[in-house]
Amino acid sequence: MTDLTSLTLADAREGLTQKSFTALELTDAHLAAMEKARVLNAYVLETPEQARAQARAADATIARGDAGPLAGIPLGVKDLFATTDVRATACSKILGNFVPPYESTVTSQLWRDGAVMLGKLNCDEFAMGSSNETSAFGPVINPWRREGSDTNLVPGGSSGGSASAVSANLCLGATGTDTGGSIRQPAAFTGIVGIKPTYGRCSRWGVVAFASSLDQAGPFARTVRDTAILMRSMAGHDPKDTTSVDRPVPDYEAAIGKSVKGMKIGIPKEYRLDGMSGEIDTLWAQGADWLKAAGAELVEVSLPHTKYALPAYYVVAPAEASSNLARYDGVRYGARVNGRNIAEMYENTRAAGFGPEVRRRIMIGTYVLSAGYYDAYYLRAQKVRTLIKKDFEDVFAKGVHAILTPATPSAAFGIGEKGQADPIEMYLNDIFTVTVNMAGLPGIAVPAGKDGQGLPLGLQLIGRPFDEETLFSLGEVIEQAAGSFSARKWWA
Ligand code: GLN
Repeated sequence: MTDLTSLTLADAREGLTQKSFTALELTDAHLAAMEKARVLNAYVLETPEQARAQARAADATIARGDAGPLAGIPLGVKDLFATTDVRATACSKILGNFVPPYESTVTSQLWRDGAVMLGKLNCDEFAMGSSNETSAFGPVINPWRREGSDTNLVPGGSSGGSASAVSANLCLGATGTDTGGSIRQPAAFTGIVGIKPTYGRCSRWGVVAFASSLDQAGPFARTVRDTAILMRSMAGHDPKDTTSVDRPVPDYEAAIGKSVKGMKIGIPKEYRLDGMSGEIDTLWAQGADWLKAAGAELVEVSLPHTKYALPAYYVVAPAEASSNLARYDGVRYGARVNGRNIAEMYENTRAAGFGPEVRRRIMIGTYVLSAGYYDAYYLRAQKVRTLIKKDFEDVFAKGVHAILTPATPSAAFGIGEKGQADPIEMYLNDIFTVTVNMAGLPGIAVPAGKDGQGLPLGLQLIGRPFDEETLFSLGEVIEQAAGSFSARKWWA
């Protein structure tokens, strides 16, 4: 029998429908692969019993002929999602062994549709990071390595466990969240597909909050089609999240293979950075050529406020984080370190529970929101955010259907190689992705080529609000042209 873990989600769905294998066999194959790949540190919790129970239930629905659209599909869940009776930690010590008594809306929709949960995936602490090195569970290892080297590379972040697990065939797909790039950057670093939907498309209910006006859940998978399949289940209106939008969820998969002829694709000149590597430039030009060959029209566009996006993001996101993280006080959730009085207990708990990057964000956030600095930092950043959003609106008003950019300024880097002395070095990873969150738009990262050392590189397509379908159509054109990417299996 073929290795069940190397199937695409769509092929696995077909195999299950045809009864070529059972959901239990598919799940067991993944559980075995996970066991052999523990060195990657992608999962922080494996849930084999729950997985097998869900797989058996899926097999029963398949036998009865009333299977849901994801019946028997084994998935991993970023540990930022609340899962009923299954530990959820946001990969922070402060949540300790918190076991939520409720399920996030996004994951509950996946289980409603028959999917199987294999376990919880590693991520940066509270999703703050670009390399998965801030996790209380330690770093995740990227399944990819530079040619001829055995240096361990980061999978990107913050959804590094999700990206690594999907890339290494430890699940058919995974959930992620993206506040400033945390789906798209790790997808690019591991040679897989990831999409951040339009703000409001997926419910944030039950997802640990980082920066509520930017956070959005989305899927990872190995093909564009597979992300489209997952997104249909993840998206939808939820009365429990007032920012979730009440619009019908399209059949995203139907967008795959749709002609892109006549579509206008913008190439933003401000994304051509000084000192950008020639490889990224070549990749970008190649992507444009592929879309042109498929009948799209390429136009140069301008997004003049791009250069302010990163500094504005690193004001807005920490500000919201400092407010959201105020709830971790040792009383309501997880860990507690006692003190002589309640104030000291708060201080001790927070000092022991939060890692250095989270502490840095809370301090920045508190500072930019404080009296006397609010106008100079927070208010100004919000104004810049409005201008960034307007840049995109102006481009789309000129008939542009989507914008093509690189996903990241480089390929994956080594563990411990970046941001040690200067956190800004790490923040620069988000240069092409944060604008999209600031504007609330959808963005997809698709693997498109390799760098000189054989590491995958991704391209990003940015769409109009709620037009994820166009991104799936265009993304698949790039995928078809670029071919598939898989890491050499050195870990098992
Ligand atoms: N790397 C960015 C940050 O650390 C984005 C993280 C994310 O999207 N969750 O804020």
